[in-house]
Amino acid sequence: MAAWTGIVGNGYTPEAFDAYCRTLRWAAWKPGFVVLHNTGAPSLAQRPLGFTRQHMAGFEAFYRDTRGWSAGPHLFVDDRLIWVFTPLTRPGVHSPSWNRVALGCEMLGDYDRESFTEGRGGQVRANAVAALATLAAVAGIEPGGMRLHREDPLTTHACPGRAVEKAAMVRSVRDLVAARHAAVAARPVGA
Ligand SMILES: [Zn+2]
Repeated sequence: MAAWTGIVGNGYTPEAFDAYCRTLRWAAWKPGFVVLHNTGAPSLAQRPLGFTRQHMAGFEAFYRDTRGWSAGPHLFVDDRLIWVFTPLTRPGVHSPSWNRVALGCEMLGDYDRESFTEGRGGQVRANAVAALATLAAVAGIEPGGMRLHREDPLTTHACPGRAVEKAAMVRSVRDLVAARHAAVAARPVGA
């Protein structure tokens, strides 16, 4: 069985996630892009309050003990928080073709059945976009390199659901990176 990488297990608001990522150093391993996933099961309806630390511990037991993997995805994004699972500076396990080169971002929901634009699904989308904008700014991960899990030729898994459109996600991440830049540039000197 592969040695288990360990987890971070903390949930961050988008602002706290940005501050956290600025403390990281991608020295030994540098991801080139992000692969988007949705959890499918659990769906949003099955997690009315989003994830908890107990859910992270449950995922750890599942990937480590049931699957026997060395790690899992890097992020679990819900409608409230961005949860860091596998450390962002270490390779994860989430998409067979791309584990060595990409970060894996799971989004809570079943986006074949649940809305990805309105209500809680829209908030999951906003939090994922915020996380990807931070990774673009802090780790230089170009939004245009984003892939969907279902684009991996080694997977037959229809993930994420059809409501997750790559071009729209890339555009949203780029827009947020630009808006954050403009906000910093507009700040008065010394503020
Ligand atoms: Zn997936």
